[in-house]
Amino acid sequence: MVRAALYARVSTEAQADRGTIGSQLALLHERIAAAGDELVGEYVDDGHSGARLDRPGLDALRDAAEAGLIERVWCLSPDRLARAYAYQVLVLDELDRFGVSVAFTDSPGLATDDPQATLLTQVQGVIAEYEKAKIAERYRRGKLFRARAGEIVTWKASYGYRRVPRSAATGQAHHEVYEPEAAVVRRIFTDRAAGITVREICRRLNADAIPSPTGKPTWGHSTLCRLLRNEAYIGRVYYNRTESVPDRRPTRRTRQVWRDRDEWIPIDCPRIVSDELFQAAARVATDNSKWSPRRAIPGQWLLKGLVKCGVCGVGTNCHKMRGRNGTWHRYYHCRNHDPIRAGGEARRCPERNIRADALDAFVFDHIRAAITHPDQLLAGEQAVTLTTPIPDDELLAAELGRLDRKIDAADAERRRLVDLYQGGFIELPEMQRRATEVTARRKELQHKRTSLADERTDLARDNQLRRRVHDFAARIHAVIDTLDDTQKQQLLRLLIEDVRVTGWHVQIRLRIALDPPPDSTSPPHPTGKPSSQQPRPVSSQNGLRSVSESECRVLPERKYRY
Ligand SMILES: [Zn+2]
Repeated sequence: MVRAALYARVSTEAQADRGTIGSQLALLHERIAAAGDELVGEYVDDGHSGARLDRPGLDALRDAAEAGLIERVWCLSPDRLARAYAYQVLVLDELDRFGVSVAFTDSPGLATDDPQATLLTQVQGVIAEYEKAKIAERYRRGKLFRARAGEIVTWKASYGYRRVPRSAATGQAHHEVYEPEAAVVRRIFTDRAAGITVREICRRLNADAIPSPTGKPTWGHSTLCRLLRNEAYIGRVYYNRTESVPDRRPTRRTRQVWRDRDEWIPIDCPRIVSDELFQAAARVATDNSKWSPRRAIPGQWLLKGLVKCGVCGVGTNCHKMRGRNGTWHRYYHCRNHDPIRAGGEARRCPERNIRADALDAFVFDHIRAAITHPDQLLAGEQAVTLTTPIPDDELLAAELGRLDRKIDAADAERRRLVDLYQGGFIELPEMQRRATEVTARRKELQHKRTSLADERTDLARDNQLRRRVHDFAARIHAVIDTLDDTQKQQLLRLLIEDVRVTGWHVQIRLRIALDPPPDSTSPPHPTGKPSSQQPRPVSSQNGLRSVSESECRVLPERKYRY
């Protein structure tokens, strides 16, 4: 008796004209029974395109053929195996080599043809296509197999590693830490986690004459950014992250796109940095994206990225222009001055440019005054925005995560109960009794979760205020007048959420609550929410806004507004 397997495929778009999987299976079962074969395996690809060979059912079928489990494959027609002729031949050729014959129910006789002979009658291009597909496919399956077995299959090793090829002595191919480079990797992550800019790290590496990964004398910005994101340094290399798909552009055949993350095959490799350091460096990256150093001379725009237009609520750009007497003036100008960005001429911002030097000085003076009295900080109901997590907070977060999983499990249990009841495995009273029990348990979990979340918020507020603000303000107060421009800029970014400028009014929203300066009628806002009772700081008026017409020439479309 011939050991036979069947293969069926339905692609989503073709279900109407090729029938469902069910009808294919019924037909194949009938034929196999009629032929007197013994059915030992069913391989099905439901909803897979025939344009590609990497289908789970087909892969399994080919593995079974290779393992000698089957002698014949039953299939509706060659196009079920693959849509492209070259791929059909590839599969048939391979099955033939494993001594497996193929029977097609739709086109009897084709299986007896020699696929190679048929192939040779085709045009030269098809042969080339076939060879290429064959090699690529064999290569792909081999690599997938080895990657799943934990072997490093990519030829290139990341900076800091050396690839040890497969050999009898060392086993499968793997990565080894290359200490001279690994030391550089550690140094880069440590610097980055300490808040040093990528550009500065590049500069220091170059100054120390450390060659780049490609052996060049200088390190590039993008090279360093890629390195900082590379998970190999925490012990994970990935294979199967991308796939090639047909490209619509006329000059290209294919392009690479990302696969879903659950299709990636992680492969272990020795780590170079700790998870904590890796994440710390990543956090700095997100914090800093707002403060792009591009085009900004350090310290020149103290409030770069912080100033918002009070009328439009959008951010401002930094702008430098030459005045009538040849001196340079710096401005923050509302992004909605650009009619396209504002969404039409009518919506354009009516505000004038903001003099940067005047605003910088004004805001800085206010911050300095506010810092002199940190004692009342702990008294009020002050929400705080701080990004640095604290250890207690991490514990609570883990506990919250655990509760979330338990709640999910309770939900799943409820669903299973209903399934059991519908399947006739349990009776209604039993289902109700158990469902009540699950519901009660879920409610209790939810309650725990809510109180824990509240606790977490309180704790975060207390801790942050107590631990940080007081001595922070005291320390700053001692040195505030000795700061250089870059340090001033850093301080303001640390303290200020944003600065809204409307007319002559300046509203400073702080990230950390500070009390108002003693003799001022214009307190900076303690919380993120503006309140109408409190008067806004009013700037010294003269000089905050641009006045001279010549200074507006750079934005000529605004001239007639004056
Ligand atoms: Zn505006």
